[in-house]
Amino acid sequence: MTQTLKRFSDLPLSPALINNLSSLAYVEMTEIQANSIPVMLEQRDLIAQAKTGSGKTAAFGIGILSKLNPSYFATQALVVCPTRELADQVSNELRRLARATPNVKILTLCGGTPMRPQIASLEHGAHIVVGTPGRLLDHIGRNSINLATVQTLVLDEADRMVDMGFFEDIVGIVAACSPRRQTLLFSATYPSDMRHATASFLRDPVEMKVESQHASQQIEQLFFEVTPENRNAAVSQLLFHYQPTSTIAFCNTKIHCDELAEELQHQGITALALHGDMEQRDRDEILVLFANQSCSVLVATDVAARGIDIQSLGAVINVDVSKDTEVHIHRIGRTGRAGERGLALTLAAPNEKKWVKLIEEYQGQDAIWKSLTDLSLNRTELIAPKISICIAGGKKDKLRPGDILGALTGDVGISKDQVGKINVFEFMSYVAVDRAIADQVLSKLGRCTIKGRQFKIREIT
Ligand code: ADP
Ligand code: MG
Repeated sequence: MTQTLKRFSDLPLSPALINNLSSLAYVEMTEIQANSIPVMLEQRDLIAQAKTGSGKTAAFGIGILSKLNPSYFATQALVVCPTRELADQVSNELRRLARATPNVKILTLCGGTPMRPQIASLEHGAHIVVGTPGRLLDHIGRNSINLATVQTLVLDEADRMVDMGFFEDIVGIVAACSPRRQTLLFSATYPSDMRHATASFLRDPVEMKVESQHASQQIEQLFFEVTPENRNAAVSQLLFHYQPTSTIAFCNTKIHCDELAEELQHQGITALALHGDMEQRDRDEILVLFANQSCSVLVATDVAARGIDIQSLGAVINVDVSKDTEVHIHRIGRTGRAGERGLALTLAAPNEKKWVKLIEEYQGQDAIWKSLTDLSLNRTELIAPKISICIAGGKKDKLRPGDILGALTGDVGISKDQVGKINVFEFMSYVAVDRAIADQVLSKLGRCTIKGRQFKIREIT
């Protein structure tokens, strides 16, 4: 595919938006952005296929913002995402992009949270709505949302939504949107059955695909032969040997995730499972712990891990080989982002070698096999550097990260560099602190006040 435009400043966008992009250090466009944004600006419908981490959110975000009218109080754009985690990430990215445009209201509508506050927010009006299919359909059914004013409809991770059984919901959502809208479909894959199914949503779409193959020099990819019996033991061996700072270990089933996470914990590795059977609240918490370095290994299914935007993952371990080569490519694409060299380790039992063959064919190069017996046998621990402390107070209590940092460096008496990430949510907050001082922080923080109030504190283990 030819690339004509390279920098955001070459696009016919408002100077305020371009300045804001450069304040986010977005100067050069990614390939999918360079290809898709001009098409969006021409108001064409779009089918865009690109790998994870290629900057699709900013691509459609710029498309949405370029024609948004903040003084028109109606839902002008709707973004449909497969999971709540992704919807939250998309909302956050859209908020960052919209900083230059005053008074843009962005609302996230997902399941797992009460309906009533969402209905109230909708009554106040939102320019951009981001949501998951089930909850959006709920609002449509109750007439609490009006999508007749939608000018831009984005179906993000469309293939995943279809995989998760949301197709019928999407049909309902599309039907509720204005027929004069622009429709943008983003997907990692675009199989022919999906092409047929979505044909009626799109009007003469421009189709583009940005190569899903990663530059192989950027990711060191190694394969290890295992037996089904020693698979879990091999995972800890890899972790002990390579000592990656943060790892996602992909399993094909939820049960396997739970089982493996538990085994790793027994061996002194701070590992946690993440999958769709878990309560949303627990999932959110685990994502916080992984991102703030209180958990070093996330054992996840593909669906649960999809789209998690965690920069600089030390390694990806494929605990089983995916029979779908595209899935494999996506999994390993989570390491080695942003110019850093990544590490992708794949365990393959003899019956899985046929899937490795497919990967070799796709990549046009032979897999590099290594033996587990070549790995060091040091059983040092792999403990995350931080521990998270949960404070039972959040935005609703007018808490801000600075208040928490202030209490820690003030009354608690630790230094700023012993404090990691601070996340403040509606009703609670998380702060990561150096593991060695966690007990001290816990006992002191429980006794002191933050913003003049005492909050319940608990350590998360
Ligand atoms: P995708 O949806 O394709 O998986 P995202 O939209 O989540 O990818 O983007 C991945 C990361 O790249 C994000 O952290 C985002 O902030 C960053 N990013 C996007 N576009 C640019 C750009 N033009 N320059 C630098 N970073 C970018
Ligand atoms: Mg995305």
